[in-house]
Amino acid sequence: MTTENRSFRSHRRPRLDTRGSVRRSRAIVRALEREIPTYAEPVVGKRRVTGRDPFKILIAAVLSARTRDAATERAARQLFRRAATPEALLRLSEREIARLIAPVGMYPTKARWLREIAHLLRERHGGRVPRTMTALLGLPGVGRKVANLVLGLAFGIPSICVDTHVHRISNRLGLARTRTREDTERALARVLPRDLWIRWNNLLVTWGQNVCVPVSPWCSRCVLNHRKLCPRVGVRKSR
Ligand code: SF4
Repeated sequence: MTTENRSFRSHRRPRLDTRGSVRRSRAIVRALEREIPTYAEPVVGKRRVTGRDPFKILIAAVLSARTRDAATERAARQLFRRAATPEALLRLSEREIARLIAPVGMYPTKARWLREIAHLLRERHGGRVPRTMTALLGLPGVGRKVANLVLGLAFGIPSICVDTHVHRISNRLGLARTRTREDTERALARVLPRDLWIRWNNLLVTWGQNVCVPVSPWCSRCVLNHRKLCPRVGVRKSR
């Protein structure tokens, strides 16, 4: 466990009876894991794009910010064909990187970040992706969301990666009552059993892209609705 995760979990917290939430979150994970194989999985962590390679996971996670998965996947594949290691990435100019990752949003900025990341990995971390929150946050383009994704997917360190889908659905499920993603991460750390932390992101991102979409979710098709596992907090319009 990282120092940061330890301190994160030890924040003063209200007294909560979490037993019901723990039971329900396990039932939610079981139900979603049965359904998910029929849906497209998120690009970061996808076997044929990043697999469990820490460098590819880090780079794809940075590319994915404010970008649809299809565009992230195209850019990541093009880039990894030319550069699958920090050393190989440093052999490309910023301009070449920008051309390869052009399908993603903010690609000129991200090209600069990627080169800087490769440089910092070589100078500070022996060419490897670091395994701590602090070190990851020292890389450009890396916030808690990306860092938690890397810690969980690449190193198996229990971490809750909260993106817009995880934030929205965790609130609809009533497992968090929060305004910010950081508060959601804190709330989930209190109610989710640690063995579910890494899986939670992948399941909810897939669900958020396909069923529990931002506007008018498909509650009539949702297994969590059929099994009475979702109180649909804040949902005013659904299909
Ligand atoms: S029941 Fe509706 S609000 Fe709840 S998870 Fe399913 S789609 Fe989302």
